[in-house]
Amino acid sequence: MSVVLDNAGIIIFIVVDNTLKLLYNCNMKNKLILTDADGVLLDWEWAFSVWMRERGYTLSENAKQSYYLHHHYNELEEKDAKRVVRTFNESAAIGFLPALRDATYYVKRLHEEHGYIFRVITSLSLDKDAQRLREMNLRKLFGDAIEDVICLATGADKDEALAPYEGSGLYWIEDKPSNADCGHRLGLNSILVEHGHNMHHTCNYPVVKNWKEIYELITEGK
Ligand SMILES: [Mg+2]
Repeated sequence: MSVVLDNAGIIIFIVVDNTLKLLYNCNMKNKLILTDADGVLLDWEWAFSVWMRERGYTLSENAKQSYYLHHHYNELEEKDAKRVVRTFNESAAIGFLPALRDATYYVKRLHEEHGYIFRVITSLSLDKDAQRLREMNLRKLFGDAIEDVICLATGADKDEALAPYEGSGLYWIEDKPSNADCGHRLGLNSILVEHGHNMHHTCNYPVVKNWKEIYELITEGK
């Protein structure tokens, strides 16, 4: 067991199977990071496109430029888009999403080297089994770095879920501009993960391309 004293307080690590695991951090509150899942920790878009292709839908050429899925698939009407997303989010496929870009490596480093823990706020579904699959998926990819997973209704706004953290200055990592803006208004430290659908969003908080940039922002204040 190792005890490390940094300027945030005492952090205790334990070695299990030659891996350093965080056991206790007396200042967990300052080490808490709030984060979205889809498009931030998980590559939902890729998994959804595979699932749709298997059901006969073809991606349109301008798919990446819009947040709205009925713009991604010619055969998909606006009125059906939300239902299709919910069906996917409540399918078995939701338990097996891959990590987004370099998320696994840098989330692991933030947790194991710096003691950060991640509370996930995700507009997945209210279906209990889907929520269990999401948690299983996240814990398999990110292990003990995941402190908690809070699931809201499919596509729900996050204003109410973020309200308890108002003025806390916690990091809030999102890819949906309206949710990142909401966190910023509440006094959180919003970071927007860039995608084709949000790259024209103007904001006065950081926009990043990957987790390496998030890691540098958090650890070096870059
Ligand atoms: Mg998202």
